Amino acid sequence: HPGAELAQLRADFPILATKVAGKPLVYLDNAASSQMPQSVIDCLVRYQTTQHANIHRAVHHLSEIATQEYEAARHKLQHFIGAREVREVIFTSGTTESINLVMHGYGRKFINQGDEIILTTLEHHSNIVPWQMLAEEKGAHIRVVPINDAGELLLDEYQKLFNANTRFVALSHVSNALGTINPVKEMIAIAHEHGVPVLIDGAQAAPHMQVDVQTLDCDFYAFSAHKMCGPTGIGVLYGKAHLLESMHPFKGGGDMIASVSFEKTTYNELPYKFEAGTPPIMAAIGFGAAIDYLSEVGLNKIAAFEHELLVYATEAINSIPGVRIVGDNPKKVAVVSFTIDGIHPHDVGTLLNEEGVAVRTGHHCAQPIMQRFNIPATSRASFAFYNTKKEIDALAAGIRSVQKVFAL
Ligand code: PMP
Repeated sequence: HPGAELAQLRADFPILATKVAGKPLVYLDNAASSQMPQSVIDCLVRYQTTQHANIHRAVHHLSEIATQEYEAARHKLQHFIGAREVREVIFTSGTTESINLVMHGYGRKFINQGDEIILTTLEHHSNIVPWQMLAEEKGAHIRVVPINDAGELLLDEYQKLFNANTRFVALSHVSNALGTINPVKEMIAIAHEHGVPVLIDGAQAAPHMQVDVQTLDCDFYAFSAHKMCGPTGIGVLYGKAHLLESMHPFKGGGDMIASVSFEKTTYNELPYKFEAGTPPIMAAIGFGAAIDYLSEVGLNKIAAFEHELLVYATEAINSIPGVRIVGDNPKKVAVVSFTIDGIHPHDVGTLLNEEGVAVRTGHHCAQPIMQRFNIPATSRASFAFYNTKKEIDALAAGIRSVQKVFAL
């Protein structure tokens, strides 16, 4: 049974033994950042202790090793997402930078006045604001796919948004605020029927399900290591090679050039064209170790067990009077966003913390979703495979005690 097996993996995560307010930590903020297993921590220490040097530019021993390790991490990422070629994997600082790279490199080159960009109501601010900046600069327009009360995108409305001016679609694979899994494969196919490329924000999908960029046929796919048991400061932009080749570089500097003179600079080949300057070498190598760890556990097993946690948590929370789940639909990752009648989410988070329970409260960088449901904020419990049903019981007990405090 995957649950029993995965519960044993808790021992791989030293931070889970932390006590908060004298109580065992119940870490339910995995959608913001997940925790790191010992194997990734060991990898970072080993690298920094014995292998560190700057990459790509030297022939000396350490630089060669560091370069090999960095490029080995890129290969791991390629296989993890099923990219056709390794040069289609660009290391960035994270999802936000990946999206900004596409906005600058593709958007500023190919999107012009009067053109239209399709986004959805479920986007994180990092997949809204760059496109707004572009639209403002170019005189382009943003069109938004609406959602229903269950937090699902309306596909009919999506279809209707396409016209001769549509140039780009940017859409999340999974909503960070609600957990909704969007039908991205179908939506990509629809965009392609109109000849429109699609960027998928995979920040909340890549940690929880097997992603295959060739099966999805997405044009770009962005995600971050720190949500998938890896370090902060590193992420990936996958892009189809011919699109990446057609694009302007995002940042100028060392390593992204083939030759430089004051008359003319020619750019390096993929993927280096988009990796100006010294990259976060240690973080990239740590990302590779995190990919090894996740692959060993198995993404399908992770998805099955996390679904079990979702079902259990949904039942537990729905059974508490006065608590409502926002965006309760059957196609979700293990995220439960909820409100408690008469109690502000900030107070919920603060009081749960006193019970050792870590949830996130606020608008989750997705204010349009809050506006859609006419609420200022929610409390969000987001699960990883190392969470347990016992921790969900602790969450439910915590919610009941919050209600008691406010009933006094
Ligand atoms: N998109 C989604 C759906 C996210 O959940 C997040 C992180 N909260 C981001 C983008 C931004 O990721 P990062 O902060 O790692 O750049």
